[in-house]
Parts: sequence; structure tokens; C-alpha cells
Amino acid sequence: MFKKILIANRGEIALRVIRTCKEMGIKTVAVYSQADVNAMHVRMADESVCIGPAESSKSYLSIPSIISACEITGSEAVHPGYGFLSENASFAEILGDHGIKFIGPSVSHINTMGDKINAKTQMEAFNVPCVPGSNGEVKDIDDAYISAKKIGFPVLLKAAAGGGGIGMKIVQGIDQLETLFLQAKSEAKKSFNDDTIYMEKYLEKPRHIEIQVFGDGKGKAVHLGERDCSLQRRHQKVLEETPSPGVNPREIKNIGKICANAISRMKYEGAGTIEFLYENNEFFFIEMNTRLQVEHPITEAVFGIDLVKEQICVAYGIDMSLSQEHLEPKGHAIECRINAEKLPNFSPSPGNIKEFHSPGGIGIRMDSAIYNGFRVPPYYDSLIGKLIVHADSRSMALGRLSRALDELIIDGVYTTVDLFKDILDQADFKNGDYNIHWLEQWLSDQVK
Ligand code: ADP
Repeated sequence: MFKKILIANRGEIALRVIRTCKEMGIKTVAVYSQADVNAMHVRMADESVCIGPAESSKSYLSIPSIISACEITGSEAVHPGYGFLSENASFAEILGDHGIKFIGPSVSHINTMGDKINAKTQMEAFNVPCVPGSNGEVKDIDDAYISAKKIGFPVLLKAAAGGGGIGMKIVQGIDQLETLFLQAKSEAKKSFNDDTIYMEKYLEKPRHIEIQVFGDGKGKAVHLGERDCSLQRRHQKVLEETPSPGVNPREIKNIGKICANAISRMKYEGAGTIEFLYENNEFFFIEMNTRLQVEHPITEAVFGIDLVKEQICVAYGIDMSLSQEHLEPKGHAIECRINAEKLPNFSPSPGNIKEFHSPGGIGIRMDSAIYNGFRVPPYYDSLIGKLIVHADSRSMALGRLSRALDELIIDGVYTTVDLFKDILDQADFKNGDYNIHWLEQWLSDQVK
């Protein structure tokens, strides 16, 4: 087994990876920016290396600094967590060139899935159902008119290199097409330095259902059920649950099988997530993420497994321990993303944590790297913790979540904790009756 792994990340995910490494007897190396000198991941790792100033571009995204940190510490492998360099094919390639194992899929799989047009083409070839859309890139406005006519309004313009909902434009009718096409192109250029745009049918009331997959890189592959991530704001996930209250288990088994087959045929290595929109009992592929997702703990809860441990073992070349016939989900799990943000605008709320008390008891998991006196820096994502509950049934999980939210104390910064208490009180949510627009609609009703 690896003797030493470097974690190229910060916050709760760095800590989460360190936890598994410790349990496996693997030494850990934390990297940190000058703003994170006092961060928990630095305190918990066996060694740590400062890799630059606060700005991510000069620290957590600096490939040369991270490679140097690996060499100085003799790290054999790198776990990238999520975000930052986790889906950066050059990073994986350069690590390989230095004889350091990237814990994740191959460079070519990261590349293919990183371009959403290529990803769709690849998935279509494996009979994965996709959202109806343009045939590849929409090159110019004439092309946009032709595609929109074929697909039918409303349509959605999306950036091929996209992420985080950036560059996405809903086009309701032909008169808006030119303006929004040009806007989407310029946003994509600015954010991703790639202005390739494609078009999809805009689905009006779908759920976001994603399938966790795992492969050994040699053709063995499994799926680990779904996560319902329909509760979103600005195309960003807020709360996730499994199983989905809106899809029946038979449909999940069918789509899961299709996904596992695609992963097997690709010879995909490690953890991945195949994302779908689900409407009128049909699944439509939108993208594949080639990394561990923020919301992976709900899958771990219902399957009773440690996905990071599986990632590390497969990366080392140990035979995959997961097999489909032994994977049966148990109970219900829900995750709330606790962000340091001030409502109603969800503006970032960095600052000093004056008091932090984590909920406990049966079926509670709190993944967080904050502590009393910790200063939430203004430079990074506002996620400061994830509260995960697991219980025998959805109604018991809702009761457990409500109890845990009451127990959770975070003082000193504004957080999204109270938002979850309010969501839990809504009949639609209690009934599992929501789609990707429900939260935005409900939030805008609150402001009126
Ligand atoms: P990103 O990588 O930018 O997050 P995704 O393709 O994963 O983009 O989509 C993010 C979210 O945007 C989805 O969960 C969904 O809410 C919305 N979305 C994406 N494609 C469509 C579509 N064709 N119709 C309706 N909503 C969509």
C-alpha cells in the first residue's frame, strides 16, 4: 500500500481524506496557502507544506508548487478531493510524468468528460440516454437558429467546458436567441477560456438524479444507486438525498446497469458520477464528473462503505472489493450543505467562528473543518460543513435531521442552517414533491 499520500485540497474534504488515510495507516501530507496556516487539515496531517499566498491561483491551483511539495515530502500519490485540480487532466499527466500516482481516472477519461460535447458523444455510444440537443458545437448564430428549430423552444445554451452553472442561458423564444448566444459565448470565454457552446432542450420540471459509479480501470464496474440533488439554487446543489423520493427503485436499477456498463466498457478507474435530469419517467444524461462529489457521504451511509478507501485501493492496484450483487442500499440518507452565507442573497460571510457545536448521536455525520476560533477566510468556496443523517426510512431521516439542525451551533458567521429548518417545514419537501426549480421558486415567494 502507499506509504504517504498528499492531499491537494483544503477544508472538510482534505480532512475527510486524511481520516481514511489514518485508518489505513497511510501517512498524510497537507498543503496550504498562507491564509490557511491555522486550518484543521494542516493540524491533522502528519506533515504540511505551505504552497503559496491566499489566492487559489497561486496556491491550491499551482501545479508546480504541489509537485514540489510531493517531491520534498516523498509523497507517492495525490488525492485531489473535489474542485481545485480534481478534474484537471494536465495535473494528472504531470504527476504521472513525475512518477506520482493521481488518485482518480486516467488523463484521457478526465479529458473526454471535461468536454461536455465529447462526454455526450461518448455516452450516446454506450446507449446512455441523453438530453436532445445540437449535434455538437453551435458555431454561430445561423447554426443556433437551425438547432433551436430542430429541438424546439425553450432551449438551453451551455458551455462545453462549463461548470458551476456558468455560461448557461435559457432561451424562451427566437427573439432572444442572438443576444443570449453571444452572452453565453463571452461568459464561457471569460470563465473557461473556451467559448465553445452547445444547445440542449430545456427541460421544464426535471429532477436532478445522479448515479454513483466505480470502476477498477480494467473493466470491472459497479453502480451505487442514485442521489437526488434537485434542491438547487442557481444550478448549485443545496441538499441531497438518497434514495430519491421521486424515482422508483426499479428505474434506478435499470439506469444504474446502463451506467455500470458504460464505465466497464470505458475501463474507467475509480469513482465517478453520471448526472441525469429525470422527467416523466425518463432519464437524460447531462454530464459526468470524474471525481469524488461533495455529496458522496449519503451514498457511503446507505451502502456502508468508504469511497475514499476504495479509491486509494484501486489506485494502488488492489482488486476492487465492490461487487454489484453485494451492494444493497439500506435506509435513507440526507446531506445539508452548510455554507457561510447570508440570506436572502446568499452573500459570502467570512469571519471568526465564535462558537461551534457539532450535533451527535445515532446516524449523524458532521464533515467540517471549522472549530472554535477558526477564521473562515474570504478567498475560497463558502462551504464550511456538511451535515449528513442516516435512518431506516425517509420520515425517520427527516426527524433526525430536524433534531440535528437544532443541536448544531455555529456562531460568528451567517450560515444556511436556518434555511434547512425552514425547508424541512414545507409540505412539498416533506412529501418529496420537488424538482430543480422548487427551491428558487420558494425562496422568491419568501421575499415577496
Ligand atoms: P454545471 O457543470 O455547470 O453544473 P450541469 O450540466 O451539471 O452544469 O447542470 C447543472 C444544473 O443545471 C442541473 O442540475 C440542472 O438544474 C440545470 N440544467 C442543466 N441542463 C439542463 C437542461 N437541459 N434543462 C433544464 N435544466 C438543466
